[in-house]
Amino acid sequence: MQNNTQPSTGRSVLVTGGNRGIGLAIAQAFVANGDQVAITYRSGDVPEGMLGVKADVTDMASIDAAFTEVEAAHGPVEVLVANAGITRDTLLLRMSEDDFTDVVDTNLTGAFRVIKRASKGMIKLRRGRVVLISSVVGLYGSPGQINYAASKSGLIGIARSLTRELGSRNITANVVAPGFINTDMTRALPEDTQKNYLSSIPANRFAEPEEVAGVVRWIASPEAAYISGAVIPVDGGLGMGH
Ligand code: NDP
Repeated sequence: MQNNTQPSTGRSVLVTGGNRGIGLAIAQAFVANGDQVAITYRSGDVPEGMLGVKADVTDMASIDAAFTEVEAAHGPVEVLVANAGITRDTLLLRMSEDDFTDVVDTNLTGAFRVIKRASKGMIKLRRGRVVLISSVVGLYGSPGQINYAASKSGLIGIARSLTRELGSRNITANVVAPGFINTDMTRALPEDTQKNYLSSIPANRFAEPEEVAGVVRWIASPEAAYISGAVIPVDGGLGMGH
């Protein structure tokens, strides 16, 4: 039976890094669902139909200010999508400690910061949905991405521990693990790297950001109220069995 205490629309949604790429598609999917959507951005324009709040996920003060702004406009954040992420790819022997810690600070500690800030409101509200955007690489591994893979597998530990801490309070935490999605991040990869990836993807194609967004919208919906601590691949079969 569906959990009827969860509204399916009109919710206060916050997507970090929602100004472009996968985050933008996710934010647009929630707008289309009739939710009140806010995004964090660092530069550029705010897409139509959503509230833009400036924030850098490596800076707790800016996150706190962004949440305060969202709460004033839309009420406490009920659906949080921790999407902001970076890569700094290079092989282990060339990877500096800064290459490692900068990626972990944005992708993993950044998610921790926004979840911590959002959790207070969710506990008060007695419901919440946390969706962490990981990567197939978090479980599968990838040469040249030790920093990125470490940050992305860490998100699974966060989601599962959060589920055990706050699961009884009507709060779910799930991980969505995309494979190769057409965005700025992947367009920056050398052509031969893209070809190598393509040859190992059973679906024999890359995906569009909207294909990730639909899954995120669903995992945050009342229909998915009994799913928590799950890792949902959106990778055309690339990571099967991992
Ligand atoms: P993009 O590079 O297109 O966009 C990254 C987003 O993250 C931007 O909105 C960027 O904001 C934001 N961001 C980066 N650093 C920070 C920061 N310190 N504070 C706030 N925002 C920040 O990436 P994608 O859309 O491709 O990726 C989105 C997520 O999906 C990432 O977590 C990525 O790891 C993950 N992913 C992507 C895959 C892909 O194939 N594309 C595959 C698997 C996972 P700004 O515009 O200000 O720079």
